[in-house]
Amino acid sequence: MFKIAIASGKGGTGKTTLSVNLAAMLSDSESVRLCDMDVEEPDSGLFLNVDQKEKTVIQRFTPQWDEDKCTLCGKCQENCNFNAVIRLADQIMIFPELCHSCYACSELCPKNALPMIPSPMGVISSSRHEQLRFTEARLNVGVEQAVPLITQTHQYLNNLNEKAKFVIIDSPPGTSCPMIHTIKEADFVILVTEPTPFGLHDLQLAVETVRQLGIPMGVVINRGDDNNTLITDFCTANSIDVMAIIKNDRSVAAHYAAGDLVYKHVSTFRESVETIAGRIQNLLQ
Ligand code: SF4
Ligand code: SF4
Repeated sequence: MFKIAIASGKGGTGKTTLSVNLAAMLSDSESVRLCDMDVEEPDSGLFLNVDQKEKTVIQRFTPQWDEDKCTLCGKCQENCNFNAVIRLADQIMIFPELCHSCYACSELCPKNALPMIPSPMGVISSSRHEQLRFTEARLNVGVEQAVPLITQTHQYLNNLNEKAKFVIIDSPPGTSCPMIHTIKEADFVILVTEPTPFGLHDLQLAVETVRQLGIPMGVVINRGDDNNTLITDFCTANSIDVMAIIKNDRSVAAHYAAGDLVYKHVSTFRESVETIAGRIQNLLQ
């Protein structure tokens, strides 16, 4: 199972478009699973017209205060790195929205007064679109911590009986914890960017993040043209492979807006995705 995370330093660069089209194209000849880990707003399924068949409710565990056992020693507050548990004069207050479910307060409580209690956090669902297997992780409305669901989604993928040769992961945008926890299990990262100063700025942050994790990467320039060398100059200077330049083409946006698989309609787009698919096949060899 070769995991390829498709990420970007910011939203709106075409990350999902590339994820869906690359996965769908590769699935014509290989066993592929597309996994949407942009858990706060997964939208890859919109382009696949899938019926989510297998659903798994994912629980998160947060501490619950047992007043009768507690001696108000304050160790739980000392042991929580996220300020999610606070000792007041006569009670312990817990802030579940800040809790990272690390179990420290619960396991280090000398009186077992903080048992960890499950509550629904999100849903992982799986289905098929023609040859393409599809998994989506979706955070429940009101749940603020994306990382625990992302972690459990990686476990879900690793435990599947039906392993695909390629797993294409649509990652959360940005360079914060959700993006890092999504890409850190990947074998290769594709950073999608656009040739603008904003695009370059966010690409620099994303490159730094991927380098810190020690994962090999390549860059895809979306809405590019041969005369704009802003991104290619940066990549050349930093020894980063530019895997493809997807040309700026209004018909791509039109088919995207219609919810189509763009590679089936726009030849220049298809050629770029074929180039990326070829590069991925080469990576395995
Ligand atoms: S560590 Fe346990 S006993 Fe001590 S204040 Fe916290 S809940 Fe109470
Ligand atoms: S489980 Fe971890 S993050 Fe949550 S309240 Fe306890 S120590 Fe803090």
